[in-house]
Amino acid sequence: MRLLDKVCIITGAGSGIGQSTALLFASEKATVVVGDIDREKGEETVRLITAEGGSAVYVHADVTNPESAKALIDETIRLYGRIDVLFNNAGISGVGRLHEIEPDVWDRVMNVNIKGVYLPSKYAIPHMMERMAGSIINMSSCIAEIGLALRASYAATKGAVLALTKSMQVDYAPYNIRVNALLPGTILTPFVENYLKTSYDDPEKAYESLKKRQLSGDLGRPDDVAKAALFLASDESKFMMGSPLYIDGGVVFG
Ligand code: NAD
Repeated sequence: MRLLDKVCIITGAGSGIGQSTALLFASEKATVVVGDIDREKGEETVRLITAEGGSAVYVHADVTNPESAKALIDETIRLYGRIDVLFNNAGISGVGRLHEIEPDVWDRVMNVNIKGVYLPSKYAIPHMMERMAGSIINMSSCIAEIGLALRASYAATKGAVLALTKSMQVDYAPYNIRVNALLPGTILTPFVENYLKTSYDDPEKAYESLKKRQLSGDLGRPDDVAKAALFLASDESKFMMGSPLYIDGGVVFG
C-alpha cells in the first residue's frame, strides 16, 4: 500500500502508460483522478479500477485548454480536498522531418506535450504549496537525448519537458514539492503501434528492427513505466529531485 490515502491525478490515463499507471496506483490504494480527452477510454480505466475495488473518477480534461486544465484541478480539490501526485502523462506525436511538418501540426504537438505539462501544473502547484507537499511527474522520453527519425517536433517537446522539470524543481523545492521526469524508451502502446503504422511500409519488419535497437532485446511494456512512476509518486523516492529516470531497455546506449 505504497500510495495509501494519496490523491493522484494522471493525465492521458485512458490508454497505454497512463492507464497502466492508474491501475497500479489504485492497486497501491491511491485515489486516482483520470484526466483524458477521450471519455470512453477514460471511463474504461475507471471501470477497470472500480471492478477491482479501487477508487477512481474520470474528469474530462483537455490539457491544452486553460479552462479545462483548471477544471481538472478544481474538481479534484472539490472531491478530495488535496492533490498529492500529478502525473503529466498525456502526449501525442507528429510525423515528419522538420521541413515536412505543417505549422498546425507543430503547434498541436507543442501544445499537448509542453503546454499540457504547464497548465495542469500551474493550477495544481498552489494547492501543493499550501500543504507543503507534492510529487509531480513529467513525461519526457529518451528521444529527448538521442533523437528519432521523422519525429523532430516530438523530440523537441520531450527535451523541453526535461528542462522544464529541472526549473520547476528549483522553484518548488522550498515548498517540499518534488518534480521528476520519466524517460521511457520504446514502450508497446497504441501510441507506438500508430508510429509503426504511419512511419513504415512494413510495420512488422519495423517492429523486429526496433527490438534489435534495445539492449533488452524487446520493447518495454506500459507497466514497466508504471512501476517507475509509482516509485516517483511514493515517498521511497524522497531524495530524487529534478531527476531524469530512464526506463528504456538500454536503447540510449545500444
Ligand atoms: P497513448 O496514445 O496510448 O495514450 C495517450 C493518452 O493521452 C490517450 O488516452 C489520449 O486520449 C490522451 N490525450 C491526448 N491528448 C490529450 C489532451 N489534449 N488532453 C488530455 N489527454 C490527452 O500513449 P502512450 O504511449 O501511453 O504515451 C503516454 C506518454 O508517454 C506520452 O506523453 C508519450 O509521449 C510518452 N512516451 C511514450 C513512449 C512509448 O514508447 N509509448 C515512449 C516515451 C514517452
